[in-house]
Amino acid sequence: MKKSLNPNAFCEVKQNGNWVRMSVAEAKALGERARCPLKNCHGRVRLHPYAGRKHPAHYEHFPKFTGCRNCYRFDGRIRKNPDALK
Ligand SMILES: [Zn+2]
Repeated sequence: MKKSLNPNAFCEVKQNGNWVRMSVAEAKALGERARCPLKNCHGRVRLHPYAGRKHPAHYEHFPKFTGCRNCYRFDGRIRKNPDALK
């Protein structure tokens, strides 16, 4: 299978006490806080809506977390995020 061009297209949003995976567009519509879906991370993220063909809906770590491979500042060493959202 072709690798996704946008690994940050899905995030997790808490609903009825459980974190649920959904697209960034859906999460944005809900207006709830969202987190990175990767197990080691679960850091808080900001949601960015679709803004043209070259700018699909995506999330960005905020604050940035250099220990997550989905963070644009990833330093190559996967670590647990000390500020994970529970
Ligand atoms: Zn992450």
